[in-house]
Amino acid sequence: MATKKNNTIKLKFDSARNLAPAPESKSAAKIDPQYDLFINGKFEKPSGKKYFPTINPATEEKLSMIAEANTADVNKAVVAARTAYDKTWKKMPAAERAKYIYRIARMIQERAREFAIIETLDGGKPIRESRDFDVPTAANHFFYYAGWADKLEYAFPNRRTEPLGVAGQIIPWNFPLLMAAWKIAPALACGNTVVLKPAENTSLTALKLAEIIQEADLPPGVVNIITGAGATGAAIVNHADVNKIAFTGSTEVGKIIQRAIAGTNKKATLELGGKAANIIFDDAPLDQAVEGVINGIFFNQGHVCCAGSRLYVQESVFKEVVRKLKDRLETLIVGDPMDKNTDIGAINSKAQLDIINKYIRIGQQEGAEMYQPSCAVPKKGFFCKPTIFTNVAQSNRIAQEEIFGPVLAIQSFRTDDEVIEKANNTPYGLSAGVWTDKGSKIFNLTTKLRAGVVWANTFNKFDPTSPFGGYKESGYGREGGLQGLSAYVNIIENR
Ligand code: ADP
Repeated sequence: MATKKNNTIKLKFDSARNLAPAPESKSAAKIDPQYDLFINGKFEKPSGKKYFPTINPATEEKLSMIAEANTADVNKAVVAARTAYDKTWKKMPAAERAKYIYRIARMIQERAREFAIIETLDGGKPIRESRDFDVPTAANHFFYYAGWADKLEYAFPNRRTEPLGVAGQIIPWNFPLLMAAWKIAPALACGNTVVLKPAENTSLTALKLAEIIQEADLPPGVVNIITGAGATGAAIVNHADVNKIAFTGSTEVGKIIQRAIAGTNKKATLELGGKAANIIFDDAPLDQAVEGVINGIFFNQGHVCCAGSRLYVQESVFKEVVRKLKDRLETLIVGDPMDKNTDIGAINSKAQLDIINKYIRIGQQEGAEMYQPSCAVPKKGFFCKPTIFTNVAQSNRIAQEEIFGPVLAIQSFRTDDEVIEKANNTPYGLSAGVWTDKGSKIFNLTTKLRAGVVWANTFNKFDPTSPFGGYKESGYGREGGLQGLSAYVNIIENR
C-alpha cells in the first residue's frame, strides 16, 4: 500500500509478504551417507579411517559423513598430482586440456539443479542464491578459463609461460563450489595439477565436483579433492612438493600460511577478510542504493568477504536512507533456505552464529543503536535477524572488525575527503561501493579507495573476466580474468 506523506511516497510493506511456501524439492539431489577422498581419479578411504559429520545448518540434521585426510593422505594426493603433472598434463597440447575443462563446465550446467540443492542443504544459503549465482558462475569460470588454455601467448604477449607444478588449494565455506571453480579452472588451464581441500563444514559440492571430474575422464591425479579441517590444510601448505598455495579464508589463517611458506619458493595467492565500505552520496538514486546495500550485506547472510558491512551515508540524506533501509528490512524473509521466497537463509554453523551474536552484543555495549525487523526466525537451525547499527563511532569494533554475518554499521559523512579517510581507515582493503549520479565522483573515489574492487552504483557483481583480490590484510594476488592466469604460471621474458 502506498501513502503520501510530505510529498514523498512511502511504501508500506507487509512484513510477512504473505507468500505461500515455495520449497525446492530435495529429490534431485543424491547425497551418499559417506564420502571418501578423491585421489588419483578414485574415491579412497582415509588412511586414518576417520570421518566427521556434515550437517544442514538450517535443520541441524546430519547430511553425510566426510573423510578426514591425514598427512599420509595429503602426501598420496600430492604424489598423484606430481605424477599426473610430469607424465600427462604438462605435456598435453593446450587445446586438449581445454576440452576437459569445457567438459567440466558443461557437466556442471547439466547437473546445476543438483549442485544448487546440495549447496543450500550443506551451507544454508538461500536456494535462489545457489541456483542463480553460485552454480552458474562456477560453470562460467570453467568456460572462461577453458578458452584461455591454448591462448596463453596472447595473454602474455612476447613472453613465454610455464606452469608452476602442483597447486595446493584451500577454500572456505561461504561459496564452496564457486571457490573450487575459481581455483581449479585457471590452474588447469595453465597446465598445473591440483590438490584441493574444501572447508570442513561444506565439503559436499566439492565432492560432487570430484564425481564430475571422474566422469569427465580427466587423467587420474590431475585434480585431487581431499577433505578435512585445518590440520589437513596445514599438511597441504607444508608439503615440500607443492609449488603454489591458493588460499581463501580468514586473515588469521592467511598469516599462518604466510609464515609457513616464508623462505620456501612456493608461490601464493591469499584472499582474506574484508570490511567493505558502501558509500551513498546525496545525489545517488536512493532506492537503488538501498537495494544494493541490502544485497551487499544481507542476501548472503553477510557470509561474503567482500560484504558491504560498513555503510557511509551523506548527512543530508542520512535519515531518509536509514528509514528506507528499515522499511526494506521489514520485508525480508528469514528462514528455510530451500524456500524460493527466502532472502536470508541459515548461518553456516553454530560457531559462526555465536561470533555474530557476540558482535551484536559488543555493538550494543559500545553504545551503538541497534535495529532488527520484527520478522520471526525458525527455532531450530542457526538463524540471525538482519541487524543494523546507527550511532556508530569509527573506532567501534563493529566498524573495524570483520563479523561475517548480516550486521551493518552505519555512519554519516559530509565531504568526499572525509568519507575516503573513513572508508580507508581499516586494516582491510578487499572491496567498496560508491553510489552517486556523478561520474567525476566515481572516478575520484575509485582512485583513492584502497580496495581491490570498487563497485559503482552496484554491489557484489562478479564475472569470470574481472579480477578480484585485496590490499593490506585482505591478502594479495588476483583471481579471475587475465590476472587470474598469472597466478598459475612462471613468466619467462624473451630476451
Ligand atoms: P573461516 O573463518 O572462513 O572458517 P578459515 O580461515 O578458518 O576461515 O578456513 C578457511 C579454510 O582454511 C578451511 O578450508 C579450513 O579448513 C582451512 N584452514 C584452517 N586452518 C588452517 C591452517 N592452519 N592451514 C591451512 N588451512 C587451514
